[in-house]
Amino acid sequence: MSIRENWEIFQDDLEAASKKYGRSVSDITVMAVSKTRSVDEILAAGEAGLALFGENRVEEASEKFSVLDSESYPLYLIGHLQSNKVSRIGARFAGVHSVDSMKIAKRLSAHRKEGKLPLEILLQVNTSGEESKSGFTDFNSFVEEAQEIAELPYLQLRGLMTMAPFVDDERVVRDCFAECREWSERISRLIEGGLILSMGMSSDYPWAVAEGSTMIRIGTSIFGARE
Ligand SMILES: *Cc1c(COP(=O)(O)O)cnc(C)c1O
Repeated sequence: MSIRENWEIFQDDLEAASKKYGRSVSDITVMAVSKTRSVDEILAAGEAGLALFGENRVEEASEKFSVLDSESYPLYLIGHLQSNKVSRIGARFAGVHSVDSMKIAKRLSAHRKEGKLPLEILLQVNTSGEESKSGFTDFNSFVEEAQEIAELPYLQLRGLMTMAPFVDDERVVRDCFAECREWSERISRLIEGGLILSMGMSSDYPWAVAEGSTMIRIGTSIFGARE
């Protein structure tokens, strides 16, 4: 099926999930996750109506998006950023939605020069407790750290991002999303603009919607299965 057809079907599914959980579909933004996809596939997604793009590797993202205009194809990093690669987050990136440590936040702030638009950031929280996932884990220190990050220049703290474990257990998955929402409530006064809660992927987004997600990151359901 074409990307356009996939996207049409997905929008119907999202509408149904939103209705089921008493959410308004207009409160949920879809980010197209284009990792491993070609520039042509990304163009097709943009033409079908997708307006935000997420990638999880800096080099791959920079290369592909350098030929796409930043207004129609705004780019966000959603994967772990190594501190020695912070300098590669240039003006082409609209945001980093996977800021997982104070160190990275400080480096991003120092690197983002005056005159450029501020970098939109989400703090990634590890609510599943899995070691393979990055993110803030200690709630007690988190509120203080978030406060410090919110005060850094050239960054705009917009909210939180989390990933649930890849399991079928609705309770386990929803608890992760609910925890992320609870963390966000504790830092809501630090958020500039509307709060973004980036939670949910192709396989688990209905449960994220149920728990208050405002942004879902969708790859497979738009582009098809990755190799
Ligand atoms: C790959 C990826 C997604 C999208 O996953 P799909 O299952 O293909 O929808 C979402 N978020 C992150 C952080 C990812 O790396």
